Amino acid sequence: MVQSPTLPDLRNPRTNGSRAAAMKALIFEGPNQIRIQEALIPTPGYGEVVIQVTLTTICGTDLHIVRGEYPVKRGLIIGHEPVCRIHQIGPGVTGYEIGDRVLVGAITPCGQCGFCLDGHLSQCGGPIGGWRFGNKINGAQAEYLLVPHAQANLAKIPARLSDEQVVLLADVASTGFSAAESGGVRLGDSVAVFAQGPIGLCATVGARLRGAAKIISIEGDPFRREISKRMGANIVLDANDPALVADIKTATEGQGVDVAIEALGQQVTFENALRSLKLGGTLSSLGVYSGKLTIPLDPFAAGLGDHKIVTTLCPGGKERMRRLLELVAEGRVDLTPLLTHRFPLDRITEAYELFGNRTDNVLKVAIEVAK
Ligand SMILES: [Zn+2]
Ligand SMILES: [Zn+2]
Repeated sequence: MVQSPTLPDLRNPRTNGSRAAAMKALIFEGPNQIRIQEALIPTPGYGEVVIQVTLTTICGTDLHIVRGEYPVKRGLIIGHEPVCRIHQIGPGVTGYEIGDRVLVGAITPCGQCGFCLDGHLSQCGGPIGGWRFGNKINGAQAEYLLVPHAQANLAKIPARLSDEQVVLLADVASTGFSAAESGGVRLGDSVAVFAQGPIGLCATVGARLRGAAKIISIEGDPFRREISKRMGANIVLDANDPALVADIKTATEGQGVDVAIEALGQQVTFENALRSLKLGGTLSSLGVYSGKLTIPLDPFAAGLGDHKIVTTLCPGGKERMRRLLELVAEGRVDLTPLLTHRFPLDRITEAYELFGNRTDNVLKVAIEVAK
């Protein structure tokens, strides 16, 4: 069941009779108005768990929310990437103990509806329905967080892994890797990844994990191009190069790539991804588009090129998180180079400013909530 935020209670911690039930949380008060405030520590109902957040981060989607480009309710606590320990367990949740360290994905599917049972967990209950934290219910940029459908969403963190090693798995890594999975990247494939922001960089890692031989990344920012090489790209091209598509063709014996990943959500990157594709290739799209997206007919071979276009929203749920945790635990992936900055929760608005303005070569910001 989806719970809507109960704003008046949240803003008045004393309604619970004690200040001890109050926590600090980042509240969205309206476009460009976010503030750390006191809120009530939630209480778990049936099937729910309350977690104490230890580390979280800020997502590009949070920036859209703060700027008023993606509407959410005023008074909502935002954020959707919690690393945490279990604080209180509601009835009907088994196999967990208070104090267990858990990772919860940005997407919290119910595990029971038709979409979930069909394998489309992100669409739980309806369009984009799996995205609840910091969207439809209170989110992770707070000291405590209520997890709905807890049985389907709490993945235990192996003791040897630090919060920093796993925090990016909740969203950007799950999303970025999924582009390579949905694109069906095969051993020896050539893959082009358009844009090397945090999600695009994770898509580059995903292509490497899936066994791509040639990974061509495309990015306008020199620092991000440099990181891209570290994360697995063998050829790094400047997004502003007018001969970009020709260069990709040259790098692939004139054929184009097997899989082109779009990780920005713009007409130009979508189009360049399509123009870079081999006949029979797959365009795997992660971007969130606004306005109108058009398909040029020549690179689409007028619809006769055996192309596939696939889209993916961040896969979530505890089994997805368990698999990603395994990749880190077994040393297949290290995403810590993407955590370029660190702030305590108290100073999260400074972190928003830095992340939003992309200053100081920021990629992802770790927000320390509790030790
Ligand atoms: Zn996100
Ligand atoms: Zn569901």
